[in-house]
Amino acid sequence: MAIEYKDYYAVLGVRKDASVPEIKGAYRRLAKRHHPDLHPDKDKARATAKFKEINEAYEVLSDPQKKAKYDQIGPGWEAAQESSPPPGAGTARRGFRTDEQDDSLDGFSRFFESLFGEAGAQGFGRGEAFRRGPRKGQDVEAEMALSLEDALRGGDKKISILAAVPCPACRGSRRQGNRFCPACAGAGETRQERPITAHLPKNIRDGMRLRLRGQGGPSSSGAGPGDLFLRIRLLPHPAFKVSGSDLETTLAVMPWEAALGAKIEVPTLEGPIRIRIPPGTHSGRRLRIAGKGLGKEDGSRGDLFAAVRIDIPDKTNDRMERLYRELREAAAAHPKAP
Ligand SMILES: [Zn+2]
Repeated sequence: MAIEYKDYYAVLGVRKDASVPEIKGAYRRLAKRHHPDLHPDKDKARATAKFKEINEAYEVLSDPQKKAKYDQIGPGWEAAQESSPPPGAGTARRGFRTDEQDDSLDGFSRFFESLFGEAGAQGFGRGEAFRRGPRKGQDVEAEMALSLEDALRGGDKKISILAAVPCPACRGSRRQGNRFCPACAGAGETRQERPITAHLPKNIRDGMRLRLRGQGGPSSSGAGPGDLFLRIRLLPHPAFKVSGSDLETTLAVMPWEAALGAKIEVPTLEGPIRIRIPPGTHSGRRLRIAGKGLGKEDGSRGDLFAAVRIDIPDKTNDRMERLYRELREAAAAHPKAP
């Protein structure tokens, strides 16, 4: 029997590149809306089915390993499935009821079971870390926005993160009795603002994931705390556009500087430096300033590109206007070569 592919992104209404906080936010909103306890009896079956679907989608998309496996398979999964079932697919459903019979809250679809087997289903409940023997606290993931200057420099940075902590009402188990915990809508965790000092390495790149050991959730069993994973997002900069590890900026140059050449000040992330404008520089020319970009993976630096824009002074005086006129006459007498 063909097993229907489930689009977990569509279930949660998130894009494929949604961040972990976006996925969590979407899950929370939907879990609250469809919580079976909030619906009258006649709608309960439908709400329960929907709620299970939401939980299953979240179970996969919030777990980096499951998400990677799911992303790899994609909607073409079913066809591949028929020609070569994954090992264990036949036995994985042992002990599980099918979708149609299952009216409990924690059943998984056959799609999920075929993909992750029983081991996957046992991961149900992100509170796993709180339930088993002495285990370290939960790993926490947060986003950190950084200016380009801070990303380059590294060092200590005080930030405040919204950390997930086990829900105090259900102590992370996601349920109270055999119902989902109403306090956290079955998420097993709530958010708490926590100030931390992050020791940042140099040359941080956009999208990088930094691991701060021991800065995650506390352990309920006396083992050490979990780790904090910071996903880096670089903030837009007023002077520089980021292009990979290179930076781009615009350089206003006066006509005589462009014509005669000049030494001119250019902003960099480490303060202004002076560069040489060669004589006869046209507007739009890109000057490369090596090694003044962002950090690269190999530890080297990208480049800064300054695009020349020829400008004129905002104010002129009599003498300047006289010189402009002279320039016009001189240019008319010496026309440009075709
Ligand atoms: Zn709870």
